[in-house]
Amino acid sequence: MIRKKLIAGNWKMNKSATEAAPLAQEIVAAAGRNTDVDIVVCPPFTALETVGKIIDGSSIKLGAQNMHPEASGAYTGEISAGMLRDLFASHILLGHSERRSYFGETDAFINKKTLAALKNQLRPILCVGETLAEREAGTTLKVVQTQIEGGLEGVTKDQVTNVVIAYEPVWAIGTGKVATTAQAQEVHAFIRGLLVKLYGDAIAQKIRILYGGSMKPSNAPELLAQKDIDGGLIGGASLESRSFLELITAAAAVK
Ligand code: PEP
Repeated sequence: MIRKKLIAGNWKMNKSATEAAPLAQEIVAAAGRNTDVDIVVCPPFTALETVGKIIDGSSIKLGAQNMHPEASGAYTGEISAGMLRDLFASHILLGHSERRSYFGETDAFINKKTLAALKNQLRPILCVGETLAEREAGTTLKVVQTQIEGGLEGVTKDQVTNVVIAYEPVWAIGTGKVATTAQAQEVHAFIRGLLVKLYGDAIAQKIRILYGGSMKPSNAPELLAQKDIDGGLIGGASLESRSFLELITAAAAVK
């Protein structure tokens, strides 16, 4: 089973709409007709509409970085899946470690968002990963299992092929420390095995598992060549078109 590689850029709280426009234009100009790799950009909410218009008609897809599980109502400061669909977003980052640690998001809350996203035809990129303390305590696989089982609770076999998992060791995010290929592949293979248990082999082989954590052009080829690494979720290196485009090229080069 060949899974098409996916490269997703998480711009986090960077780039105003004005700053986002040239970055999106550069990506479209260089990779807007690329069909070898799926490409998603996730600007902040305020730049979604601007970026959406620039990538319209290209092969680049639009993702948001967070949403609320409810459809509407008294949730000041929040944004619903329907509102994101209205801006033509197709993907949504859920459970990023920064949401978990700074905003106290639990697996149960992330699960509500996952179900709401799927109900609204948004494809969740469900982020999981252990902290340094958890890795050192030898609990990496247990932590990842709990996050995946919690995040996917109630997600059906029909729905789960629209989910992308992103394994992001927290100690590697924005730190310049990258997991070794062996460390990453070990966890990715474990996640694949868990998906087999939850959904059966045929479905598990279709689900993409991205690696995230200081992925950059220099380390990407080796990571992307691993059997169960189906792409990357990119923070820092997605903020500049040159490095993001190099990562797309690296993903396209993997046979
Ligand atoms: C991320 O935040 O999803 C991420 C992987 O960041 P970075 O690439 O900067 O480590």
